[in-house]
Amino acid sequence: MQRKEFRELTSVEDARVLVGKIRVTPKTVKTPIEKAAGHIIAEDIFSNVDVPAFNRSVKDGYAVRAKDTYQASEPQPCELRCTASIPAGCADDFFVDDGEAIEISTGAPIPDGADAVVMVENTKQSSDSLLVYQPVHIGENIMRVGSDIMKGERILRKNTRLGSREIGVLASIGMSEVPVKRLLVGIISTGDELIRPGEKIEAGRIYDANSYATSVAIEECGGTPKIYGIVADDAALMEEALDRAIMECDIVLTSGSTSAGVGDIMYRIIEEKGKTLTHGIAIKPGKPVVIGMIDNVPTIGLPGNPTSALSIFNEFVAPIIHNSLGVRPSFKTKVRAVMGTGIRSGGREELFPVGLVRGKVYPADKTSGAITTLSDADGIIEIRAHTEYIKAGSEVEVTMFGNVTSPDLMLVGGQCPGTDLLEEMTGLVFRTLNMGSSAGFTAISGGTADIACVNMVDPQGDFNSSVLAKMNLKDVVLVKGYRREQGLIFAADNPVHGLENLITGVRLINRNRGSGTRALLERELGILAAKMGTTRNELIKNINGYNSGSKTHRSVCDTVRSARADVGFGLRAAADEAGLEFIPVAEDEFDFVIRKDLLDIKEIRVFLDALSCEEFSKRLPPGMYTYEMTGRIISSF
Ligand code: AMP
Ligand code: MG
Repeated sequence: MQRKEFRELTSVEDARVLVGKIRVTPKTVKTPIEKAAGHIIAEDIFSNVDVPAFNRSVKDGYAVRAKDTYQASEPQPCELRCTASIPAGCADDFFVDDGEAIEISTGAPIPDGADAVVMVENTKQSSDSLLVYQPVHIGENIMRVGSDIMKGERILRKNTRLGSREIGVLASIGMSEVPVKRLLVGIISTGDELIRPGEKIEAGRIYDANSYATSVAIEECGGTPKIYGIVADDAALMEEALDRAIMECDIVLTSGSTSAGVGDIMYRIIEEKGKTLTHGIAIKPGKPVVIGMIDNVPTIGLPGNPTSALSIFNEFVAPIIHNSLGVRPSFKTKVRAVMGTGIRSGGREELFPVGLVRGKVYPADKTSGAITTLSDADGIIEIRAHTEYIKAGSEVEVTMFGNVTSPDLMLVGGQCPGTDLLEEMTGLVFRTLNMGSSAGFTAISGGTADIACVNMVDPQGDFNSSVLAKMNLKDVVLVKGYRREQGLIFAADNPVHGLENLITGVRLINRNRGSGTRALLERELGILAAKMGTTRNELIKNINGYNSGSKTHRSVCDTVRSARADVGFGLRAAADEAGLEFIPVAEDEFDFVIRKDLLDIKEIRVFLDALSCEEFSKRLPPGMYTYEMTGRIISSF
C-alpha cells in the first residue's frame, strides 16, 4: 500500500484563513424550551403579552387609596375599614372606596379604586378595622401592567445562545417552543481497535473516546451532534458511513486514520469523494488533519489521538460552527501567569496543555495519546513555531478550559490512599499525578511539583533521603510520612506462601518501572537471593511476569482478582479493599519532598498539620501507620 508523506504542511495561519471562509447554512427548527438550552435562537423574539398582564401587588399587605394614608404616623395611625381579602390567582372584581382597604397577597391583582399597597408590617388589623402606621405614595408596592415586558417588545435577539435566563424569559411570556438554529454535525470514529464504552474490554482494544468528547464539544459551540458510531478500518465501510453522514449532516467529522500509517485511508477517501483543501497542518498536537469538502459538506478528518482530536476541533472546527451559526465563540477566560518551569518546544506551532497551580504554569503533557492530558490540565498556552524555549519565570497567557477549578497543590509521584485521605482532611484540591516515585523526584527537582510523594528504597534499606543526597537537591526538605505494609497479594483459592513461590512459575503482576513498590520488591528479592546463594538477576530471570508493570496498587489487585495473574506485590490496604489475601513482606516509608520556598504558604502548612494530627493516624487504612518520625522535617541529606 502506498504511504503518504507530509511533505508540505499548511501553516497555522493559512489553515485559519481557510476554515474562516467555510460557512454552512443551518436550518431553523422549533424546539421545546425544556430542550433548548445551549442552542442559538434563529429569529428575534417579540413578546405577544404584557408581563405582568395586570397590575399586581409586590407585597403582602392592604390595597388602599394613597391619599387616605398621608396623615399616618407611628403615634397617630389612620383607621381604614377592611372590606375583603384577595389571594394570588384570584380573578374576582373588587373595589376600594375612600376610607377602605382590602387585604391583598403578593402577586394578587390590585382591585379597582386602589392606587397603592401598604405593607402588612406597617398595619394592625382587628376584625374589620385596619390601623395604618406609615403613609404610602401613589403606585407604591404595585407592579404595573407591562412594566417588566411590554407587548410588542423585542425580548431576545437572533443569534443569542439560550441559557437559564433566556429560557426563563421565554417561559414568562408563555412561549413553549422556540425557533433555534440546527446545525447537524456528524461524527464517525474509525479504528478496528475501538469498542463502545460499556462493552467488555478485550486485549488490544480501546474505548472510543472521540465520539463522546467531540459530541460535547459540538454542543458547546451550539451545534447538534449526531454520533454514527465506530467504523472498522475498511474502505468500503468507511465510504458507506461517510455517504450516509454527508447526506444527513451539515458538517461531518471523522476521527482516526488520517496519518501516514499503513491502513490510514481516510484522507484518500475524502480526496476521492470530494476535494481536499488541506492535509497536514504545522501544529502540535494534531499534525495529521484533513480538511475537505464533499458535496458542499465540510468534511474534517480529525486525528485519532483524543487530545489531538479535541485540540484540532477547538482550533479549526469550532470556528466553522461559530461562523455558520453567526455567534461569537463562547467567552474563554485568559489569564496571565508565570511559568513555574521551562518548556522546550520548537519547529511547529504548539497548543501546549498546562496546569495552573496558584498562578504558576506547569506542563501537563504526557503524550498526545492520553486523554488524561486534558483532564489533568487547566488550559493551554500557544507556543509560536519559532519559540524554542520558554524560561521559568517568564509571563505567558493561559487560555483556560471552561469550568475548571484550579488545584491548590500539585503532587507528583507514588500513589497511596493516604494522600487521598490528606486531601479529604485538608479540604484542599490536589492535582495528583501518579507516575511513580522516580517521576516524583524528577518533578520536584525540575520545579514542576509542589510535593513529590516518594517511597524509594536504596540497597541499604534507606528510604528516600539517599536518593535526595545522590541528586544533590538543595532547595527541598524531606517530610517523613508514614509506614506501609507491602507484601504478596493473591486470591484465597490460589494461595502463595512467600517470596520463594515467585520462582515456581506463578504469574506475577509487577508494578511499573520507577515505582518505589517495584524497587522494594527488587530489594527483597536481592535479600532472598543472597540467602539462597544465588544472584538477584538469576532469581528474577525465573519469575514469570517480572517485567509487567501496572501503574497503581488498585490495578495490580484487579489483575489478580480477574485471574490474569496469580500474585501481585503491593499494599495490604489495597488487598483488603479488593477482598484479596495478603502476606506481609516488608514495610516501606512513604514520604513527601517539598520545596523549601513553599514551606510557609498556607496550603503546605495545612497539609503538614493534617499529616501530624491524631485524626490522620486513626483514619489511615489497615496496614498503614504513623510513627515517631511522622511529620519530621529533614533538611540535610
Ligand atoms: P489513528 O489516527 O487512526 O492512527 O489513531 C491514532 C491513535 O489514536 C491510535 O492509538 C488509536 O488507537 C487512537 N484512537 C483512534 N480513534 C480513537 C477514538 N475514537 N478514541 C480513542 N482513541 C482513538
Ligand atoms: Mg486508526
